[in-house]
Amino acid sequence: MTTDRGHAMELRNETAINVAGLLRTMTGGSRTYELHLDAFPLGDGLIARDVEGEVRLTRLRDAVIAAVRVAGRVPLECVRCLRIYDQSFATEYSEEYRQTVDLRSGAELEPKSDEDEDTALIDENHELDLAETLRQEILVALPMRPDCGEICPGPGSLRPDLVETDEGDARLAALAQLLGEDSVDEEKLERDGSGG
Ligand SMILES: [Zn+2]
Repeated sequence: MTTDRGHAMELRNETAINVAGLLRTMTGGSRTYELHLDAFPLGDGLIARDVEGEVRLTRLRDAVIAAVRVAGRVPLECVRCLRIYDQSFATEYSEEYRQTVDLRSGAELEPKSDEDEDTALIDENHELDLAETLRQEILVALPMRPDCGEICPGPGSLRPDLVETDEGDARLAALAQLLGEDSVDEEKLERDGSGG
């Protein structure tokens, strides 16, 4: 018999955990893992980096609760200056994973009456995967309007050559003029004046 009391196990670049051992313990038994993910895809081309945290699994009668605390960073595009910057995040949540197969008999266990397709499950190999809920929780922890912060040079830094278009220069110039009308003109005039 192994005991894991006193020291945390490590999950490195891995989000699936085999809980067969935990399911053999008494209800209320728990395990703690240190989580390290160098890169964790969030979908839509977003990737969380240097994700560090702690996962505590607690056995219930027919489920395992994962209490997760993580922090890391996600390179995001600033809505003002369109630069890519590192957005830090921190979040904590817990998720219940229902046991689907009896550990000893291998018999399938009945789903609970309130269960739906979003219920997280422990699979037939007695593994649970943190990935899907972790992905959603990190996305929720990110700002709706990513902003690189005090160092942001602001929309005035928007260079016409960064505006995506396949039209000719005339349209681009018109667009730049429109965009610049209320924010850039003064600066621009000043610069033009002093420049020559
Ligand atoms: Zn910015």
